[in-house]
Amino acid sequence: MAEYNFETHDYDVVVVGAGGAGLRATLGMAEQGLRTACVTKVFPTRSHTVAAQGGIAASLSNMGPDHWQWHMFDTVKGSDWLGDTDAMEYLAREAPKAVYELEHYGVPFSRTEEGKIYQRPFGGHTTEFGEGPPVQRTCAAADRTGHAILHTLYGQSLKNNAEFYVEYFAIDLIMSDDGICQGVVCWKLDDGTMHVFNAKMVVLATGGYGRAYFSATSAHTCTGDGGGMVARTGLPLQDMEFVQFHPTGIYGSGCLITEGARGEGGYLTNSEGERFMERYAPHYKDLAPRDYVSRCMTMEIREGRGVGAEGDHIHLNLSHLPAEALAERLPGISESARIFAGVDVTKEPIPVLPTVHYNMGGIPTNYWGEVLNPTAKDPNAVVPGLMAVGEAGCASVHGANRLGSNSLIDLVVFGRAAAIRAGKVVDRDAPLAEVSRAATDKAFDRFDGLRYAKGTTPTAELRLEMQKTMQADAAVFRASDTLAHGLEKMTSIAGKLDDIKVTDTSLIWNSDLMETLELTNLMPNALTTIAGAEARKESRGAHAHEDFGTRDDDNWRVHTLSRVDGDQVDLRYRPVILDRLTDETKGGIELEKIAPKVRTF
Ligand SMILES: Cc1cc2nc3c(=O)[nH]c(=O)nc-3n(C[C@H](O)[C@H](O)[C@H](O)COP(=O)(O)OP(=O)(O)OC[C@H]3O[C@@H](n4cnc5c(N)ncnc54)[C@H](O)[C@@H]3O)c2cc1C
Repeated sequence: MAEYNFETHDYDVVVVGAGGAGLRATLGMAEQGLRTACVTKVFPTRSHTVAAQGGIAASLSNMGPDHWQWHMFDTVKGSDWLGDTDAMEYLAREAPKAVYELEHYGVPFSRTEEGKIYQRPFGGHTTEFGEGPPVQRTCAAADRTGHAILHTLYGQSLKNNAEFYVEYFAIDLIMSDDGICQGVVCWKLDDGTMHVFNAKMVVLATGGYGRAYFSATSAHTCTGDGGGMVARTGLPLQDMEFVQFHPTGIYGSGCLITEGARGEGGYLTNSEGERFMERYAPHYKDLAPRDYVSRCMTMEIREGRGVGAEGDHIHLNLSHLPAEALAERLPGISESARIFAGVDVTKEPIPVLPTVHYNMGGIPTNYWGEVLNPTAKDPNAVVPGLMAVGEAGCASVHGANRLGSNSLIDLVVFGRAAAIRAGKVVDRDAPLAEVSRAATDKAFDRFDGLRYAKGTTPTAELRLEMQKTMQADAAVFRASDTLAHGLEKMTSIAGKLDDIKVTDTSLIWNSDLMETLELTNLMPNALTTIAGAEARKESRGAHAHEDFGTRDDDNWRVHTLSRVDGDQVDLRYRPVILDRLTDETKGGIELEKIAPKVRTF
């Protein structure tokens, strides 16, 4: 058994992750006087949320009529009827409140002439329950909205005495024998010391796992660590097969060009200079949802109308927009286009390609952020002491496909909800439970095993193999034979973790070991993604199956639950929640409005 000395820290709440979700949860907990620690592997304002450009959705009606019921309808339709109704209602209803709170905390939103928060159009956001024109619902701070939110929430958290543990890497959860989460084991990256955080509530806010793919818009730190930790406890992950490709990653680098670019009037063209989205989505054109636009682009390329020497990408045009508008509303992406594509957006189109962007699936929770154990006898049973929020969680509001600007609002609405809930269920006066020594030993043993791993496969090599397989076989379009082949390949790749080779055994700034820990987290995320996709015999949202081209509500309007054991995945299903929080007599949406129908634009 591995012997590591460690320091113990006692808190009411430990939040793992300092992106938008983690910081909003941390702030809410601290405001209520809960003793709160936030643990993060990167400095808080370097979390991936900092890169969010386009904005945050809320029906403020600053630019024209809007209602939360319209926002809810768009979210339901966007999810391709796989989202949970109660959670989607909670999101749309609480969104304006959560945005005004951000404003009062100090987020420097862009403004209209009258001084109201500026809102821009975004894909899939409409009026009149999808019958009217696009709505301007996405609140923005130029094209640096995530940056503005993170800096504000970090400052406010410090003001409220939350304590930050920066560059601490969470290795594993501490679970008692009877399934209660008691804390988390961490490795301090800059001095090699070990730390056990003992808490009454652990909140996982560790972000997505875009780096399971070869080309992704997400930061290199987006390695699904929360999902990895949960999978290792034997709990299931949910709806992992739904991976969003953003239509406009810069060709080559994968760096994102926000959908706000099309919201501000940009459009896509093929090699014939045709605005082809008019053909596929006559009503909403370039502002159809992401899954749809990504598929249309892929079809254009396949049919020989791609641009460039190899005909393998598409053009995004902005040069018809006034230079002042580009400078004021889209300064960041003008810079990205110059640096990563060598393009002056006032003169030339940007070369773009659908690129992995967001994970709809994650750790299953209710709309308070409490982690569910849906494979228990009671499907609504929660795992005591454990919450998950942000991209790591799956509440599920995005179902099979997320609408642009609905993630930032998810972060703050559910970060806030988790804090409200913890304020009720965490007993500030109760003593902390003694942590399970067996669980901490298990975490140290795993860490030590990787530290001294003497196999033959270097981490970087195995990671690349995983990324290439996911990119090829779990892509925008999927088919039975490629999925089966991909699953077989991924099973063998996951098996190779036992043969991993780590060369650096030091404990201080050991990026080899850290990336190995991250790979052990990416792997269960990737494996459940392709296993869930292989099993789902229909097309829904981001899961476009060439052999089963239509949505099959009779058999597949269910959430996938996947449990991982080594290189094997056990799949089960649970029904989608159809109950609203309020019915029409109390102002809720009419059931008939959100009944499933064919998704056209
Ligand atoms: C380029 C880009 C642009 C986007 N633009 C928009 C947009 O305009 N609007 C919108 O709604 N959505 C947008 N999205 C999506 C949205 O930004 C993300 O879904 C969201 O920011 C995720 O936030 P998060 O708080 O869940 O996680 P993150 O911001 O990814 O933060 C994760 C945190 O967890 C910590 N962490 C992870 N693992 C560990 C560990 N093992 N130990 C300790 N700490 C750990 C990290 O240090 C970090 O602090 C965009 C995404 C990208 C990639």
